[in-house]
Amino acid sequence: MSTTHQDPIIAVATAPGRGGIGVVRVSFGKLGAEVVARLMLAICGQELTPRHATYVPFLSAQGEVLDRGIGLYFAAPHSYTGEHVLELQGHGGPVVLQLLLQRCLAVHEVPGLRLAEPGEFTHRAFLNDKLDLAQAEAVADLIEASTEAAARCAGRSLDGAFSRALERLVDDLIRLRMLVEATLDFPEEEVDFLEAADAHGKLAALRHELAQIQSDARQGALLREGLSVVLVGQPNVGKSSLLNALAGAELAIVTPIAGTTRDKVAQTIQIEGIPLHIIDTAGLRETEDEIERIGIARTWQAIKQADIVLHLLDARIGFTPEDEEIIASLPAGVTVLQIHNKIDLLAAPAGVNAITETQAMRIVRLSAKSGAGIEHLRAQLLELAGWRAGTENIYSARERHLIALRAAAQHLQNAAEQAAQNAQALDLFAEELRLAQLRLNEITGEFTSDDLLGEIFSRFCIGK
Ligand code: GDP
Ligand code: ZN
Repeated sequence: MSTTHQDPIIAVATAPGRGGIGVVRVSFGKLGAEVVARLMLAICGQELTPRHATYVPFLSAQGEVLDRGIGLYFAAPHSYTGEHVLELQGHGGPVVLQLLLQRCLAVHEVPGLRLAEPGEFTHRAFLNDKLDLAQAEAVADLIEASTEAAARCAGRSLDGAFSRALERLVDDLIRLRMLVEATLDFPEEEVDFLEAADAHGKLAALRHELAQIQSDARQGALLREGLSVVLVGQPNVGKSSLLNALAGAELAIVTPIAGTTRDKVAQTIQIEGIPLHIIDTAGLRETEDEIERIGIARTWQAIKQADIVLHLLDARIGFTPEDEEIIASLPAGVTVLQIHNKIDLLAAPAGVNAITETQAMRIVRLSAKSGAGIEHLRAQLLELAGWRAGTENIYSARERHLIALRAAAQHLQNAAEQAAQNAQALDLFAEELRLAQLRLNEITGEFTSDDLLGEIFSRFCIGK
């Protein structure tokens, strides 16, 4: 694509559909204030004072009033993108907004104005140092958050909580590197000097600090991604009933898994704010219908990536040959929780928490009908997910961040081992510290390839 991040761009910034207000946003690229003034004159009939909300008409080329609304001019660099930005807030109808958009695109006052690509406004905010990369990603996470906890968590990342934690760590790492590299210049004093400066103690403290960040980031990633859970079991064992019982009071059904429609097969519920994407395999029948088949194939794809499988049995009947087949159809290595349902119907009532771990299989006994044992299952799911209570301090994080944190931790570990094995090999020690820092810098985007940036921002919505 031959677009550059210097062009002026435009998009409807509000969600498609109808709403009270709709916003058309223009970011002027490298163009100057005189071009903004010309566009304001053409569309609003007047120039706007920066950061003042002005009620203006939005005019067609012939001078008719297309709509009336608020014009807002943010002069560079004090805008979202860091460039000159003009926001036209009109009425939130798809047609009137398209009219306004087309009207702006047609003006010759702004040379090169084009439609923005997904995430392009935020991409520019990043390129112009308004946000670091972790914050830019948090913008998308906030918009996509499917639970309240996930949204709060993304809000903290956007506010810079994750970036600040990383910055503190990198600062400490840089201090240690300076110490080591200074010592490298005076080889005869190397070891004594490092000992005197407690380089090993400092490295241990760094590793501890990083481990804490990793732990918080894992929690954040869990909140963002949620858990995918598959319900399997023969007809009538109580899969649908269990789904309802699990959703319980939190039946604030959130968004469906990307790519699947919200139907009986895939639903998302939440437990303590963690999205649980649940697939009920009862919907997976043999079918002649082509569309349905595609849906089913896609569902099997999701099952392959499941975090946890809930295998339901009727507690009165137990494990049958059909269950054998069900288990055989599951991807190898997936975590299976065996659920013995309908314990309310047992002749000799059993305690709900009587969990036995036979054959490395976790078993939960419950009644989807009475609710007995449901709380325990919820706790088991959270435990399997690695969730720890309390979301006050965590920030949203992505797989990309976890990978970089793991790599940095590995380099710090290498450094520690290096030092333990051969205290003379200071240059190798220094090199591991340098590599650790590179991986940490990747997260906030100090050194990032254009490909990665393109990949990250292309997943944003248009207009953001
Ligand atoms: P599915 O085919 O596996 O989805 O099973 P359903 O959830 O549709 O349940 C089948 C039948 O079993 C329904 O009549 C439910 O009311 C009943 N059922 C489900 N769970 C329980 C339970 O824990 N106790 C009792 N007594 N009945 C249950
Ligand atoms: Zn069912």
